Amino acid sequence: MSLALVWFRRDLRLADNPALEAARKAHDRVLPVYVYAPDEEAPWQPGAASRWWLHHSLAALDAALRKHDAVLHVRRGDTLGTLRALVAETGADAVYWNRLYEPAPVARDARIKQALRTDGVDAKSFDAALLFEPWELATGNGSPYKVFTPFWRAARARLEVRPPSAAPRKLDVAKARRGERIESLGLLPEIRWDKGFHRAWEPGEAGAQKALRRFVDDAIADYPQRRDFPGGAGTSRLSPRLHFGEISPMQIAWAIDEASRASRSAKRREGSEAYLRELGWREFSHYLLYHFPASADSNLNPKFDAFPWAGRSPAQIERWQRGDTGFPIVDAGLRELWTTGWMHNRVRMLVASFLTKNLRQHWLEGARWFWDTLVDADLANNTQGWQWTAGTGADAAPYFRIFNPVTQGERFDPDGDYVRRWVPELKAFAGKSIHQPWSDPRRLRNVRYPQPMVDVHATREAALAAYKACK
Ligand code: FAD
Repeated sequence: MSLALVWFRRDLRLADNPALEAARKAHDRVLPVYVYAPDEEAPWQPGAASRWWLHHSLAALDAALRKHDAVLHVRRGDTLGTLRALVAETGADAVYWNRLYEPAPVARDARIKQALRTDGVDAKSFDAALLFEPWELATGNGSPYKVFTPFWRAARARLEVRPPSAAPRKLDVAKARRGERIESLGLLPEIRWDKGFHRAWEPGEAGAQKALRRFVDDAIADYPQRRDFPGGAGTSRLSPRLHFGEISPMQIAWAIDEASRASRSAKRREGSEAYLRELGWREFSHYLLYHFPASADSNLNPKFDAFPWAGRSPAQIERWQRGDTGFPIVDAGLRELWTTGWMHNRVRMLVASFLTKNLRQHWLEGARWFWDTLVDADLANNTQGWQWTAGTGADAAPYFRIFNPVTQGERFDPDGDYVRRWVPELKAFAGKSIHQPWSDPRRLRNVRYPQPMVDVHATREAALAAYKACK
C-alpha cells in the first residue's frame, strides 16, 4: 500500500488542488499535513491579521476533511525535520505540495525537495496558485517583463481557461500519531481585537465559493464602473482567499467566463475582462517578486536609492497608523483596516501616497504596517502595491503624481458614505463637505477630530523638490 503526504501550505482547499489530486491518483492513501514554521518565512513571517485568518482557514480545512473521515495533521517546527519524521513514522513513499513563489519559501522548498529525494522519497511540487508560473513568460530577448501592459498582453493571449477539478468525493486517508491541535499553534490574538474580523469574514473554502458566487451574480457586470468606489460592494474581496489558496485563480477565471458566456451580455463580458486584468496584476506582482526577489526589501528602481526620505518619524507614522491624520478618507481607510483587516484598493493607494509623499516616510514603513494588519497580506502584492504607489517600482505610478486626499475623497466617495462609516465623529458633515471638515470650523469644534497633520500643498511641493534632487 503506497502512501503520500500532502503538505498543505497556502492552498487551503480540496477542490482544484493539483498536489492532492496527483497524490490520490498515484497512491493508495494520503495524509494531509500542515507544518507551522513561521521562522522559515523570515523576515516576512505571517503578521497578526494573517495568523487570525490562517487559524480559521486551517479549522475550515480540517472540518472539510473530517467529512471524509480524515483530519488535517498539524505539526509545528522545522519543516524538513517534521516531514522526515512523518515519513519515517507512516512509511510514506512520497511528499506532494503546491508551489509558492516568494524568495524564502522558494529557497526552503528547493532544499526540502532535494533532501527528500536524497532520502529516496518521491518529492513533487505542482502549479496551483497562479495562472502562469513566473518562468513561463518572457520578453522577446528572454528577459523578464518589467511593464504590465506587454506582460498582460502576452499572458492574456496564452490564457486557456479550463474547468477546474472538483473536490474529491472519497479520500483514502492514512493514520498517524496525533498531531497538534490548531488552537495550540497560538495564531489567535490574546487581546481580542478581532471582533470586527468575525463580522466581516468567513474564512475557508466554502466561504470563498460563497464570496465568488455573490460577486459573479451581483457585481461583475458593474465592476469597471464601481470598482474604484470604496463606499459600495463593487469588488470581490477575494484577496485573502487567493492568498491562502482557499480558491484558485483558475476557479475564478472559469466561473466568470462561464457566467459571461451564459448571459451573453456585453456588459458582463467587459466586467469579466476588467476583473481578469486585476488577476493579471496579481500575476505580475508574483512574477516581479520571483524575478527580482530583493524587491521585497529594496527599491525595484535603483534611482530611488538616492531619494531623500524625510527621516523616520515615529510620531507621524503612529498618527497615520491610527487613522488620526485629519484627512477623512485617509483616516477612514486606516480605521477600516484596523477593524476588518482589509482596505479598498483605491484607499490603499491614497494612504500609501500620503505616507510616502506627503509625509515622505519610506514605503517599507507602510508595507510593514500592512503586513501586520491585512488579512490578505501577500508579499508579492503588498511589495508591488507599495512600490507602485511610492513610484519606486518597475511599472510604477510616476513619483510626481501625488494624490490629493481631498479631491480623491470628493471624486471616489462623493456622498461621503465611506468616510461616515469609518469616521463616525464626522457624520454631521453633509455630502462632500465631509472631505474637508476644517472648512467648517464651527462644526469641527463640536467633534473630536484633528486638524490636518500637514499642509498637503506644501508637502507636495517638498516631495517634488526631493524627487528632482534624486532624478
Ligand atoms: P478585486 O478588485 O476584486 O480584485 C480581484 C483580485 O485581483 C484581488 O483579490 C487581488 O488578488 C487581485 N488584485 C486586484 N488589484 C490588484 C493589484 N493592484 N495588485 C495585485 N493584485 C491585485 N493585495 C493583496 O492581495 N495583498 C496585499 O498585501 C496588498 N497590498 C497592497 C498594498 C498597496 C499599497 C496597494 C496599493 C495595493 C495592495 N494590494 C494588495 C492590491 C489590492 O489593493 C488588493 O488586492 C485588493 O484591494 C483586494 O480587494 P478585492 O479582492 O476586492 O479586489
